[in-house]
Amino acid sequence: DQEKKYRMREAHRIVADLYHEVMLQTAAGDAGREYLEKRGIGESAMREFKLGYAPDQERFTVDSLTRRNFDLDEMVEAGLISVGRDGDYRDRFNGRVVFPISDRDGTVVGFSGRSIDGRDPKYVNTAETPLFNKSELLFGFAQARGAMRKNKQVVLVEGNLDVVRVAQAGISYTVASLGTALTPVHAQNLGRIVDEVIICYDGDKAGRAATIKALRLLEDVAVDCSVIRLPDEEDPDSYIGTHSEETFIRLVEQERVSSLEFKSFYFRQGKNLRLEGERVRYIETMLEEINRTTNPLLRDIYLGKLAEEFQLSKESLLSQVKPLQAPKV
Ligand code: ATP
Ligand code: MN
Ligand code: MN
Ligand code: MN
Repeated sequence: DQEKKYRMREAHRIVADLYHEVMLQTAAGDAGREYLEKRGIGESAMREFKLGYAPDQERFTVDSLTRRNFDLDEMVEAGLISVGRDGDYRDRFNGRVVFPISDRDGTVVGFSGRSIDGRDPKYVNTAETPLFNKSELLFGFAQARGAMRKNKQVVLVEGNLDVVRVAQAGISYTVASLGTALTPVHAQNLGRIVDEVIICYDGDKAGRAATIKALRLLEDVAVDCSVIRLPDEEDPDSYIGTHSEETFIRLVEQERVSSLEFKSFYFRQGKNLRLEGERVRYIETMLEEINRTTNPLLRDIYLGKLAEEFQLSKESLLSQVKPLQAPKV
């Protein structure tokens, strides 16, 4: 009910402030602060995203909430603390750098905590709670909102750290889905605000496969997409580290490729196009992808490219694609 959600929001606000203050103002937070500094995060980004550190104590958060008369079972339900088999309450994010996750208005509703000492798991995230609906939330959305509206673009990355690092490089319209795949709700929410989604997932195989899935969802809401292709072993954060902010910005501004160019690259992987069978399969796949594309000019460009590359007539290819229908938004 509403009262309960109100208390849960209040608790999140208090805990986020505590973790943030601990990191920026106390010796107990040095480890967290040093970790983020080592990862290239400066103080103003720490403030902008209200990053924090949860002290490595079993009951720091439990005690803080108790002192403020919060009901601990309700706090367990909110995902702020956990309860052991023996029934005692303990912290969930202790010893981790925490990234507060806000809803669209900037109200903190959950956390993502990264270990800083190699402890497993690498990330502990808030699970589904009355406030926290993973399939609707995007990390960085509240911070990026104004810039997204102004630029009509959003850069979509995999990780929280990528968001902070890319925003710090000057591209403030950057968000991440929370360690899961993009959902139709995410796609719709972004499509309402921007004209172009720039996908910049990790360069590895998982990131490339996730890019294809994200493109499908975004095409379903008829928003134009482009893709930044990172080297295999890099993500946006590491790329900025091994190259520079300027190099990354150049990738975004000048080297992003269209959705169809990315698909052409993706579906060619591992195929020997000199073999007729594989060539036909590739052409069929690309025709299907052209059919999914709602941008009429892009469709035309890629029909032309296919025709030219494989010496087919554009007319015969055109006979295989459906006429464009009005986009459903
Ligand atoms: P880092 O650079 O600190 O290793 P990352 O963001 O590059 O972090 P990835 O392995 O690329 O980490 O994962 C992307 C995102 O997926 C993370 O930001 C996190 O939200 C989520 N994630 C990764 N590992 C886990 C995990 N073990 N449990 C829950 N979520 C995870
Ligand atoms: Mn990854
Ligand atoms: Mn990554
Ligand atoms: Mn990373």
